[in-house]
Amino acid sequence: MTIKYDSNGLVPAIIQDAVTKKVLMLGYMNAAAYEKTLETKRVTFYSRSKQRLWTKGEESGNILNLVDIKNDCDNDSLLIQVHPVGPTCHTGTDTCWKEVNTSTYGFFSTLEDVITERVANKDTNTSYVASLFSKGINKIAQKVGEEAVETVIEAMDDNDDLFLYESADLLFHYLMLLQAKGFTLKDIEQELKSRHK
Ligand code: AMP
Ligand code: ZN
Ligand code: ZN
Ligand code: ZN
Repeated sequence: MTIKYDSNGLVPAIIQDAVTKKVLMLGYMNAAAYEKTLETKRVTFYSRSKQRLWTKGEESGNILNLVDIKNDCDNDSLLIQVHPVGPTCHTGTDTCWKEVNTSTYGFFSTLEDVITERVANKDTNTSYVASLFSKGINKIAQKVGEEAVETVIEAMDDNDDLFLYESADLLFHYLMLLQAKGFTLKDIEQELKSRHK
């Protein structure tokens, strides 16, 4: 990736939560910090006050697990998406701007993100999601159909536990199908909102 470091050898890195899309903090990286971040998958900055590499969370444990790095239009800043562990600001707040870091659809947003990660990692041996995706979109659609039928059957039967179980199966597989088709829950929300006159 092309990165234009400034005259001090630094590039500003905007840290964003990959799930909630909130901006968590701003830090600076030099080339070594960037390399270490890629290697360890934990965000490492160059601390201007400490004048050394600083892996965020090295003392507090509140690390930033790397999801994605993008450079901007003129290569002089980075957007780094992360999964934060604990509050990102050293004052104890979720973001350095004292915002609460909640995701739009709660755990469903987390699940959407987990699916994205599993698909990207393609580890079909350990991940059910990865293995289902590897079989193609028709197979995912077929699974949604099966889980829908099972949900319908349990809805007609008088067993609440099984209904809940199959409903969860259905929603989970549906989230996978949505993603396989290139959509997110946000798209569904927009479609429903547009009908709500
Ligand atoms: P940590 O990297 O979370 O173990 O924190 C170690 C030290 O780095 C803290 O005591 C702060 O001085 C500084 N620090 C941690 N997080 C931030 C942040 N989000 N913004 C600025 N400085 C921070
Ligand atoms: Zn720029
Ligand atoms: Zn802070
Ligand atoms: Zn099922």
